[in-house]
Amino acid sequence: MNTKQLTKAELEEAAQILRRGGLVGIPTETVYGLGANGLNPEAVEHIFQAKGRPQDNPLILHIPTVAWLERYCQEIPSTAYELAQAFWPGPLTMILKRKDCVPDVVTAGMETVGMRCPSHPLCRQLLELADVPVAAPSGNLSGRPSPTTAADMWEDMDGKIDAILEGGSCSVGVESTIIDLTCTPPRLLRPGGITLEQLQEVLGEVAVDAAVTRQLQGEEKPKAPGMKYRHYAPKAPVIVVTGKPEETAAYILEHSTKQEGILCFEEYEHLFPENQVRSIGSSGDKNQQARRIFQALRAFDHTDVTQIWAQCPDTSGIGLAIANRLKKAAGFHVIDLTY
Ligand code: AMP
Ligand code: MG
Repeated sequence: MNTKQLTKAELEEAAQILRRGGLVGIPTETVYGLGANGLNPEAVEHIFQAKGRPQDNPLILHIPTVAWLERYCQEIPSTAYELAQAFWPGPLTMILKRKDCVPDVVTAGMETVGMRCPSHPLCRQLLELADVPVAAPSGNLSGRPSPTTAADMWEDMDGKIDAILEGGSCSVGVESTIIDLTCTPPRLLRPGGITLEQLQEVLGEVAVDAAVTRQLQGEEKPKAPGMKYRHYAPKAPVIVVTGKPEETAAYILEHSTKQEGILCFEEYEHLFPENQVRSIGSSGDKNQQARRIFQALRAFDHTDVTQIWAQCPDTSGIGLAIANRLKKAAGFHVIDLTY
């Protein structure tokens, strides 16, 4: 298949492709998504094929306004509207009870569906023009770091999908926060651009799913099926080191060899003149770290490093999402210097 590059001026063509059952790479504020008409099971099926995504991993439905929630969800609690008021359009996905019109392939047969109203201006225009809910996971090949530029998406999806809509670099850089509103208290299933602290301000008590912070054991099942897979991973194995930045930098300096890659805060780049080094930005700027984390992980795939050492921010604010992506990329191989 010849994948077409589409620009802002060709938005109508992107909308048409979606309406007629094709696949489009779509910029959002979080990461690039791989979108299809969410009411067309065959089109949604093709998302799983293009990504090599396991069938039991459901997709998120993207809608242009909160008013569309009732088309696809039932028994919607008032907290959904409170969250929408506070954070939509934006990087928050709500898990709600689905209506029967939502195809099984979208929800992996579950009775719930993930709903999001994104804020990226081009994405919003596309959703309005397409006039269908767009089912979309991140636009990477399954298991790889998510794409945060159109170029990343080309790397993974060239020849596999109908088109990629060019929409610049993603402003958040990590996937949406997922909050399950079908349980009490509401449960954070995946940390993201809307922080736990922000959710607590609206909801009060919020439970945090175990899969957010640690590897699940044996029979334990995460409520977001996607959280059980190794994910976001570059080709070389990753070791995450947590603790104070100056201490983790010193630890990595002591234990790494020059064949190994270093993913670090920019203050420590100069310590590793002989290594492949990728900076995720200043240790004090977590928003920048979030924007850079996936590209930094991807960049090592163009080198011959045998292993990657990664510094990790603390888990306050969006640090929880960055730490979660890094630890998952590492298969939870973490050296914790905070004890
Ligand atoms: P992605 O956007 O590629 O990260 O994929 C969507 C994520 O949303 C996956 O981790 C899914 O497991 C999660 N998800 C989608 N729908 C649901 C749902 N109904 N319940 C729980 N998690 C969901
Ligand atoms: Mg994904």
